[in-house]
Amino acid sequence: MAWNFAAGPARLPDAVIERAAAELFRRGDDGACVSERPFSGPAFRAVLDHARQRLAALLGLPANYRILFMAGGAMQQFALLPMNLARPGQRVAYADSGYWSRRAMAEAANITEVVEVARHPGTTALAAPEAGVWAVPGDCAYCHITPNETVDGIAYPAFPDCGTLPLVADCTSSFLSAPLDVSQFGLLYASAQKNIGPAGLTVTIVREDLLERSPATLPAVFSYRRQAEAGSCINTPPMLAIQLAAMVFDWITEQGGLPAMAAANQKKAATLYAAIDGSDGFYLAPVVRAHRSVVNVRFHVRDAELTDAFIRAAEAAGLHHLRGHAHLGGLRASLYNAMPLAGVLALVDFMAEFKRRYG
Ligand code: PMP
Repeated sequence: MAWNFAAGPARLPDAVIERAAAELFRRGDDGACVSERPFSGPAFRAVLDHARQRLAALLGLPANYRILFMAGGAMQQFALLPMNLARPGQRVAYADSGYWSRRAMAEAANITEVVEVARHPGTTALAAPEAGVWAVPGDCAYCHITPNETVDGIAYPAFPDCGTLPLVADCTSSFLSAPLDVSQFGLLYASAQKNIGPAGLTVTIVREDLLERSPATLPAVFSYRRQAEAGSCINTPPMLAIQLAAMVFDWITEQGGLPAMAAANQKKAATLYAAIDGSDGFYLAPVVRAHRSVVNVRFHVRDAELTDAFIRAAEAAGLHHLRGHAHLGGLRASLYNAMPLAGVLALVDFMAEFKRRYG
């Protein structure tokens, strides 16, 4: 058995792979499968509507939010946020919680002035900025956070209160891993390749009143307002990725929805962190306990020289893509929804064996 612990593109649920293999490329009487038919036609529209309704039901989405299915990845959203939500010359507020929030900030800084409102405490205490009430300058267009830092393995245990300023969140790596109260946010976005489906699709959920902010001069495909008006079909959307996402939403629903995902994810994370914490210091998890990510478990071998040996031996044992991000080194196991507990148990067994050999 081989297990894929990649941070994304990540594993899809087995049941979705099987269903996709059986259904996606089946041609109908017109000689076409759904992704070969017009995106404006009834077959694809039915898929799109189904995906939207399923996702709204999973999230318990309030009626004043719109779901957009866009291309371009989360990095495109980094740029679209200030382009859509800030008036010319208006500042935007960002919290620095690690690698991806800094990249979001850098992209926004190409468009307008960025105010850094909170920062993670540094390399000695790896943690998200403290939540609570944040003093964000009132002239800012929004305040941006990254609830789960995929690279750093840091997660916010609670979200800040920014008063009337819309809170905007890059939920790429935590989306659909647990229930989420969307009403806390003005806008949130997630690219697909962790818990939604294959890369090429980004889900953006935006409160309706914010759509009015999109400038009329913005190119249509970059405009949240125009995308919402066109039902995400200004141009050809990533049809195959949306079909797969609909199947993933069905799968999550069948499993018991987001509470079931959260329970399974907590169990997997607790199992792996317990193995790390119980290793007498042979393995170390650098993030402050209360801020440890449930889905991206970052750890390292105390003796850093053993990292390559660990990765080689893990691969030989069928445990793949455990190397930490190039930016930080060490090890990282990503445990998104599609990773069963069996994969984590295999990893934990391997870690004990590796410690016996080298500890
Ligand atoms: N934000 C976060 C939190 C991520 O984890 C990633 C991808 N790992 C991105 C943004 C960038 O996503 P994309 O490659 O879809 O642009």
